[in-house]
Amino acid sequence: MTILLGCIADDYTGATDLANTLVRQGMRTVQYFGPPGDDVVVPEADAIVIALKSRTNPVDEAIEQSLDALNWLQGAGAAQFFFKYCSTFDSTPQGNIGPVTEALLDALDEDFTIACPAFPENGRTICYGYLFVGDKLLSESGMENHPLTPMTDASLVRVLDAQTRHPVGLVDHRTVALGPDQVRDAFAAMRSTGHLHAIVDALNDDDLLTIGTACADRKLITGGSGVALGLPENFRRAGKLSTDTVADQLPSMPGLSAVLSGSCSQATLAQVKAMQRSRPSYQLDPLKLAADEDQAGAALAWALPLLADGPALIYASAAPDDVRAAQDKLGGQAAGALVEAAMAKIAVGLVEAGVRRLVVAGGETSGAVVQALGVDGIRIGPQIDPGVPWTTTMGTTTIGRTELALALKSGNFGVEDFFLKALDCAP
Ligand code: ADP
Repeated sequence: MTILLGCIADDYTGATDLANTLVRQGMRTVQYFGPPGDDVVVPEADAIVIALKSRTNPVDEAIEQSLDALNWLQGAGAAQFFFKYCSTFDSTPQGNIGPVTEALLDALDEDFTIACPAFPENGRTICYGYLFVGDKLLSESGMENHPLTPMTDASLVRVLDAQTRHPVGLVDHRTVALGPDQVRDAFAAMRSTGHLHAIVDALNDDDLLTIGTACADRKLITGGSGVALGLPENFRRAGKLSTDTVADQLPSMPGLSAVLSGSCSQATLAQVKAMQRSRPSYQLDPLKLAADEDQAGAALAWALPLLADGPALIYASAAPDDVRAAQDKLGGQAAGALVEAAMAKIAVGLVEAGVRRLVVAGGETSGAVVQALGVDGIRIGPQIDPGVPWTTTMGTTTIGRTELALALKSGNFGVEDFFLKALDCAP
């Protein structure tokens, strides 16, 4: 097998978002959670996304995991690589976007790459290096309250510069508007002045296509899923990718349905409220979890008798003040870990009871759920909302050969009635 594009994503929902973009552009794409073992039969694919759960890990661990993934992708024949992170540049003051990028560049013997998290279809644009979410600066968008990676500065040049050993430059939208040749020239100018990284502005999909074309010969590209929009066409122009592939077909997956939400992002809070209007819901509380109450068991006992009548929602999602109150008492990481462990246990219980269609909200939350279910990899299917496709599992899980349909949603993605909309179009 020889793949064209090898991708490494720093969280599970982000990986799926990238895979969704590639599939929509006609690349057959599969996603693995960590590099697949030698016993895994990898299907024929044009792109493989290795999803890591490295966004908030210690820097050294994130680098090690990313280099392992790179190594596997090189073994699968990839000649171009993509490091995918969140379209809101979720990171901590230490990293991990900067340090992982520099480690990948070193391993590839490369001296330049771009950083472009823009995703205009979902309202993320970059102008003069400042990241906007809709009409708000990143730092005023609600992301300043994120439980794990609060983003309090919208200047991506400044944020990345604080995480890197080498200087960060900017290719602004006036250059991007001139076209791929001028963008390529700007990259050359950046390299000649010792910049290892360039934030690249993008205001719309045309800008992303221009940037994608300009990156045809770059060994490493870093960014959100948006900047991958232009890459498949490069392979087509080079005669390496077919023009008529149907890449998003999934097997049908009948069974019970449920929604798990551990995301506290603004969009998710509205989606939780919307589902509560017509379906039953159960709230987990980190303080009760910390007091050793078996809330996971209680949530399962509550949900199982209801599911025959339709989907139920189990959530820990809470408004910023409640999240802060829990974090003040327990610590941010500890509160998150408690909720994630409970969600993981609930997911396993639900699947054991016959749930086959599971919607999970939250990147870290999805990571915990997928790990607990022992899912190796997923096939990517049709899009539900921008950045979120339906997927089905491949191979075995901790509960045997049972296949599942999973919709893994990043915090701020999806329309208000996303949960029921997703289940209405489940495979
Ligand atoms: P998103 O995609 O919105 O960033 P994540 O799942 O990645 O969502 O991150 C949300 C984090 O917040 C998780 O670690 C989750 O366990 C944690 N969390 C969820 N609910 C609460 C809560 N009520 N209090 C504190 N932390 C919470």
